[in-house]
Amino acid sequence: MSLTFTPVIGIEVHIQLKTKSKVFCKCGTDYTNDPPNSHVCPVCMGLPGSLPVLNRSVVQQGMLAGLALNCHILPTTFFFRKSYYYPDLPKGFQITQSDLPIAAEGWLEIHDDAGKLKKIRINRLHLEEDVGKLHHSTTDGRLEGASTSFVDYNRSGLPLAEIVSEPDVSSAREAVEYVTSLRRRVRYSGASDVDLEKGMMRFDANVSVKCSDGRWGKRSEVKNMNSFRALERAIEYEIKRQSKILADGGEVSQETRHWNDAKGVTTGMRVKEFYRKFIVEPDLPPLVVSSHWVDETRARLPEMPIERAARYEKDMGLSETDAAVLTDSIDVARYFEDTVKSGANPQRAGNWVRTEVLRFVNEKQISVDDLTVKPASLAELLARVESGKLSTTQAKGVFEEMLTGLSIEDAIKKTGAVEGGVGAGALLVLVKSILAANPDVVEEIKSGKDTKGKKVKFLQGLIMREAKGQAKPDEAASAIEAALKDE
Ligand code: ADP
Ligand code: MG
Ligand code: ZN
Repeated sequence: MSLTFTPVIGIEVHIQLKTKSKVFCKCGTDYTNDPPNSHVCPVCMGLPGSLPVLNRSVVQQGMLAGLALNCHILPTTFFFRKSYYYPDLPKGFQITQSDLPIAAEGWLEIHDDAGKLKKIRINRLHLEEDVGKLHHSTTDGRLEGASTSFVDYNRSGLPLAEIVSEPDVSSAREAVEYVTSLRRRVRYSGASDVDLEKGMMRFDANVSVKCSDGRWGKRSEVKNMNSFRALERAIEYEIKRQSKILADGGEVSQETRHWNDAKGVTTGMRVKEFYRKFIVEPDLPPLVVSSHWVDETRARLPEMPIERAARYEKDMGLSETDAAVLTDSIDVARYFEDTVKSGANPQRAGNWVRTEVLRFVNEKQISVDDLTVKPASLAELLARVESGKLSTTQAKGVFEEMLTGLSIEDAIKKTGAVEGGVGAGALLVLVKSILAANPDVVEEIKSGKDTKGKKVKFLQGLIMREAKGQAKPDEAASAIEAALKDE
């Protein structure tokens, strides 16, 4: 009998909490265009004698993220010193809550590989500080072979939350859905911008494989994945590698492994250390949060994407796809909802935001909040489509002009769109001239040979073309009918 292998995967995600200053000092967190080591002080440089002071907004943001992930908040927690020596950590220890965290026992819902809903339990969310960044003089940026290395402490002391899942993930695809959903919910909460390119979200994957003969390999912790795609590939690679070892009768050892994206392989880094190297941080008091503060934070949490999408489907009659796209980010969801609140038909507004608005926003790489067309103006435009004053094609042209900053009236003038289309009288004249130019077609229709209505469709097409998008199909069809009766 052939052996089968079942992956067991746990994910650790680090997110950078969104605050103005670092976690234990007053240094700013935004150093985007600033030189290395320009946002540092004795505390985040780890100079002897400096004392950490906990930033209240870090706690606030950590709670917000925890609640967004269905965790409960622990009223009293501690900070520890996790000791290790490396140049990116000048103090010689990292301050972390580790497994006495501010938030615990959460969960996220994803779809398993068969499409069924499945819960991934979250063990905890704990607060900690980030470390500095090393720059090695090698072309690939790796330590091996570098003659010089530089350290930049701008990152040192940035506020992080580590979110540790239970080993409930069963495939690389599930892992990607898990981190995608986690990212979306955290971004909704406002706890972090979770920008992958800016290193605001990083993940490690713990992978082990169970064999159908009962053997269960040790887990490896895979690091250095910089994108969702890399996470997926690294896990797939690890599952294959470990399954092969077990299939060959070997043993998988517990270790930390490094994902090499260019080569598409993981390589061993160091054997995992088992001793606990934590002591309580004596310079920080226990962290106590009142139930009042927790309630206040919970009240600030916006409606989450899944619940919001369900509401769009149920109350507004949107399709599942439209609802999912519109709720992917909270600013788009709010833009859409404000358009509806300004009186737009939800389905029309949903469709419009999903296509016209998002196309423009994605193309220009801007946020919907920066659009010159505010929800109220979009609603006004859509109202004119609804009442038949503008055809959809005309409205699209008008919208383009509005995006350049024109008012709806000026945009209508500029595109030359005639409100109310070609007008009933003008339409009849147009239809008559087209019928006159196609006597053979008219004859066929009148003699009853056009049973499938193909010829009527043909005439309709001609009319639409002549009217240059300003006639509506059903109006054209009834005008044909009227004109034929007149003949
Ligand atoms: P560590 O200090 O080793 O990082 P953590 O508790 O922070 O320990 O993280 C352990 C991670 O490993 C969790 O995400 C957990 O779900 C995962 N894990 C635990 N057991 C297994 C296993 N047998 N196979 C795969 N992942 C596992
Ligand atoms: Mg860990
Ligand atoms: Zn500092």
